[in-house]
Amino acid sequence: MAPQITSIQSFFQPEVPSAQKTQKPAPHHRASDTSDGFTSSEIEAALHPVLHKWQPRATYNQTDIGDLVPGPGCVMLMGRVVNFHHIATPSNMPKAAKGCLKLTVKDDTGALTMKLWYAMVDYDLHLGLLVSVYTPHVSNAESSSLTVQDASLFTSVFPERDNSCYLMVQERSDEGVMCKTPLGYRDGKQLDGLMALRSFLEGGHELAQAKILVCVKSIGGRKKFVTKKGKEAEKVDVNVFDDTADAKLTLWGPLCSSPAHWKTSYTILLITRPGLYGDGGSLLSLRNDTHVDVDPCMTDAYWLRGHAQRLTKREHVNQPFPEGVFDVEEAAESQVRILFTLADIDEFVRAAPAERYVGYLSLTIVELNFYSLYQRNMLLCTECCGVPIFANAVTTKCKQCEKDLVLRINPRLVGLLIDETGAITSGKLIWSDDAWQQLLGRSAEGLAGASVALLKYLDNRLLFLKLAVTFGWSEDVGKLCVLRVTIV
Ligand SMILES: [Zn+2]
Repeated sequence: MAPQITSIQSFFQPEVPSAQKTQKPAPHHRASDTSDGFTSSEIEAALHPVLHKWQPRATYNQTDIGDLVPGPGCVMLMGRVVNFHHIATPSNMPKAAKGCLKLTVKDDTGALTMKLWYAMVDYDLHLGLLVSVYTPHVSNAESSSLTVQDASLFTSVFPERDNSCYLMVQERSDEGVMCKTPLGYRDGKQLDGLMALRSFLEGGHELAQAKILVCVKSIGGRKKFVTKKGKEAEKVDVNVFDDTADAKLTLWGPLCSSPAHWKTSYTILLITRPGLYGDGGSLLSLRNDTHVDVDPCMTDAYWLRGHAQRLTKREHVNQPFPEGVFDVEEAAESQVRILFTLADIDEFVRAAPAERYVGYLSLTIVELNFYSLYQRNMLLCTECCGVPIFANAVTTKCKQCEKDLVLRINPRLVGLLIDETGAITSGKLIWSDDAWQQLLGRSAEGLAGASVALLKYLDNRLLFLKLAVTFGWSEDVGKLCVLRVTIV
């Protein structure tokens, strides 16, 4: 969106004799080639200016969107971005707008359509963002957009050129509750038009006011490509689900930055009037009149998040060790040491699952996978964007969201543990970092950097070893946790 121009000095390059030019073509345009006395941060500030600090000159009445009256009058309203798209208006006039973002802002009482014009400023918006809008005029929506049913009012702002309007992003002051009640929602009542994802896909989409409530399952990478018409485009696919079906939601253009703010198996989207494309598939999109409420405050959303969390507990490839749930120190120093067998634990947990246990197990390792996991590049692992990630390294980047990740030791390293009453596969255990250190004699870094010879040695050295294991069980965690290990 930002114009690609450099500072004016860079146009006055010293003349280079043409012979020299042909002899030594610069392979890349490096920063030092255009050195013109400006630092990179100064150039960055000129190319991507942030919106100026703003002091209102008049009094702006803070108003709920539902109470807005069309006509002139300085008003301030707060709401969340529930949809937006980009409209380019290329112009050679130096002061003209380069384009606008057409966005829908919603609070608990209504929604407003807004054109946010820009010249130089890159507005970094995303779905769910809390914003304050200052505007001197609100009008009835343009006749062409009458389809936008709950956003019948409209305003147009150009903060860079017009000092009477402003858009303030409230990211820091956002405590995650304001303007999150869905329109028309009343506690304990089913929201009008809300249906299960399966019902929507199987015909419910024909309803004009259809709503679905879905949880983010996984987030794909951002894909840039050139369309058949030669235009640059970008899209990102987000897999979503509820308890009845799965679907793929495709976001385009500036909306692509939104999923970076979402968490898999946690973020809930209430989508009002979703688009459905393709034949008989489950491909969702956002139409211009679609609203997306991110993590809405409503009982159905809390239920769906709980449901998603229960599912991931079973599926996470390397569930993080629950810090602060068990008192490891106390367990280690305790005078009373209760020795359990695997059969005991099974029996106790079935009888009283809500009880929290800390105790001891005497286990023998009967299967180890150091060398085989090493060969498959799977010594360490974690999960991001709903995708399991394996590597023989402690850090890596998520291919989807490009976040830097820290990997933990793959629990499948220890394949099988037994005692005289039963066996437990290591995938069902959550090891603490201390317990791994006590078993392996090295940290995750040490394991990642280990030679093949060392891994083969560990495979042999630890096999059939007897371990005194301090374990913890809690229903919230849902798996047996290894707090400490002593080799006996
Ligand atoms: Zn990720």
